[in-house]
Amino acid sequence: MSAATITVLPGDGVGPEVTDQALAVLRAVEETYGHRFTVHRRRVGLDAIAAEGTAISDSTFEVCGQSDAILFGAIGSLPPGTGRGAGPRPEEALFRLRKEFGFFANLRPVRPLEALYGASSLKPEHLKGADLLFVRELSAGLYYGRLESVPGKPSEIRRAPHGTEAVDTLLYTEEEIERVVRAAFEIALRRERKVTSVDKANVLSSSVLWREVVERVAAEHPTVAYEHMLVDACAMRLIRTPSEFDVVVTENLFGDILTDEASMLTGSIGMLPSASLGTRRTAAGTFGLYEPIHGSAPDIAGRDRANPVGAILSGAMLLRHSLGLAREAAAVEEAVEAVIGEGLRTPDLVEPGSTVVGTREMGRRITDRV
Ligand code: ATP
Ligand code: MG
Repeated sequence: MSAATITVLPGDGVGPEVTDQALAVLRAVEETYGHRFTVHRRRVGLDAIAAEGTAISDSTFEVCGQSDAILFGAIGSLPPGTGRGAGPRPEEALFRLRKEFGFFANLRPVRPLEALYGASSLKPEHLKGADLLFVRELSAGLYYGRLESVPGKPSEIRRAPHGTEAVDTLLYTEEEIERVVRAAFEIALRRERKVTSVDKANVLSSSVLWREVVERVAAEHPTVAYEHMLVDACAMRLIRTPSEFDVVVTENLFGDILTDEASMLTGSIGMLPSASLGTRRTAAGTFGLYEPIHGSAPDIAGRDRANPVGAILSGAMLLRHSLGLAREAAAVEEAVEAVIGEGLRTPDLVEPGSTVVGTREMGRRITDRV
């Protein structure tokens, strides 16, 4: 029996719809395996701005900090170009959570299910054997940069262009690179395969430093095979021969782009889960934030059309990494595979011969399986 506390931050758009299903699956795990999960539900993003005047309140933050894990839905965005410099911005919630809890490694597994080969944009012979794990650096790079890069301007408006100039800085320290590269090598050691480190070392000085650090960490892991790959080559090879990859470690923005691309191997962006981890420990694992890689998808929100699998598989990662419940995590993954194997599909995955169901029905079937 394990007792754990989970904070659920459903957020905006399809976030509440998919986290409801992920939570139902966790409740089924609780009942089937005799655990006790205490769940706190709090607002985040546009939802929190509307109700509480801030993207994430201090008290929500505190509740998160007292939990073993955070299950996150999605946050919406203001239309590009609006809200410059004035008022709270929804994405601040995620930046703040990542910074304050030190989540520097974002794990994004991509394992195309055989039953969904038909929904992928690739041929089955190219997908066979593909089982990737992206380790995206999450705490630095272009998303943070250097506030003083716009002299004399307050940091809140650094995202707005200034006259005819706009500046972003790609800043990495050796320490920021080393901790995420080390995490990737340690995961690869357990998977007994290899690490592909992705950079743009022919152009970017941060990438030259990145390679140096990879060389050093690799020397400490002589049994782990590794290679360097330029990001443009990686983008091409991902959809040509995805099975050549195992653990892929890369900086923040490259990881964002490559994982959206890789999601198409599985058939839909709605399929992919993620875990954001740092060094803080829980009773049985590592404190983390778990969320599907997709956004708030306002175009389909509130219509029972969102694919809940990415959120449900994020719940499986939560069980494995933060609660130390590997067997239960595997049971959730098997339930997803079984239900997809039966031909059930949300509208993002429709193929000839499949049965189209909504978010709730898909969630219910997976919950029943567990
Ligand atoms: P963000 O800025 O938060 O990354 P985004 O604008 O890049 O968000 P998403 O919200 O991820 O985009 O949506 C991109 C597309 O994928 C949309 O057409 C959306 O409907 C679709 N999509 C996203 N999530 C799902 C899902 N769970 N099920 C089905 N379709 C989805
Ligand atoms: Mg996106």
